[in-house]
Amino acid sequence: MDYTKQIQEIATRLFAEDKIDVFVGYRLTGFDDNQVPALIRESKDVPLLVFNQKSVFNLSNYLKNDHTRNKRVGLVVKGCDSRSLNLLLTESQVKREKLYVVGIACEGVVDDAGQKMQNCLECMVPAAVVYDELLGEANMERRFIINADIQDMAAKELVQRREYFEEVFENCIRCNACRHSCPLCYCAKCCIDQETATLYNGANTTSSAFHALMTWSLHLAGRCVDCRNCEKACPSHLPLHLFHKWNERVIYENFQEHLAGVHEGDRGAFYKYSMQDPDDFIM
Ligand code: SF4
Ligand code: SF4
Ligand code: SF4
Ligand code: SF4
Repeated sequence: MDYTKQIQEIATRLFAEDKIDVFVGYRLTGFDDNQVPALIRESKDVPLLVFNQKSVFNLSNYLKNDHTRNKRVGLVVKGCDSRSLNLLLTESQVKREKLYVVGIACEGVVDDAGQKMQNCLECMVPAAVVYDELLGEANMERRFIINADIQDMAAKELVQRREYFEEVFENCIRCNACRHSCPLCYCAKCCIDQETATLYNGANTTSSAFHALMTWSLHLAGRCVDCRNCEKACPSHLPLHLFHKWNERVIYENFQEHLAGVHEGDRGAFYKYSMQDPDDFIM
């Protein structure tokens, strides 16, 4: 999977036709073959753009800040990234007419060791679901997988689960990189940062980390697209996907196989109330 040439051609064309102010893609770090997000503002910088199996980050996260706000933006999205873009559109955070979206029919990305990432092995929606042009062939025949981590977690007694998570939370340094790297955490004033929110109080304690991360994971329930931007950003390498994949499974199994962001305009399980909703999984 290497679309470097095609993406450079598209970006060059968009600048030449004066259709965008900024193109959000990937470039090499300059130290190794890893990549970082690149905000290209002039066509002379287009040759910096690359795209291959090392293009791991979810670039829709860059739609929520001042670099792109009120600008005409070109953007590269893989399947998972496009689902978060769909949610940002549905939740009225970005305007579709301001975007030119280059969708990728994704074959999966790899970690630093060159291994395909776990979320890619389980991915249900590899091809972009929103785009102006699509690179690659969409092949959507996938089935829902409950991964081994979640099966292990489900096999634990409640008290063991709590002990496990207490260990995890002990290593959280309350840096909030997880939240800031999530495209779907765009609130101008996050409830976790409220000075009066004594449950969370910025203190670096297991208890405040527990409350902050649990609140965060619930705000992403039915919205998380399993891009793992948060996990990649976490300096403590915490297994944050466990919260989100747990919630994803509960929602998939109980709310008509709902998957976040796949369909335009779908606001997700938490927005649809019905007296027939199951409640036997609720804590
Ligand atoms: S989760 Fe799916 S769409 Fe996202 S990078 Fe992996 S294979 Fe691609
Ligand atoms: S919670 Fe993490 S995995 Fe889910 S959408 Fe946000 S950044 Fe992606
Ligand atoms: S954790 Fe909740 S309140 Fe905070 S930014 Fe994310 S969605 Fe908004
Ligand atoms: S990025 Fe990791 S260490 Fe930082 S607040 Fe999130 S979970 Fe804690």
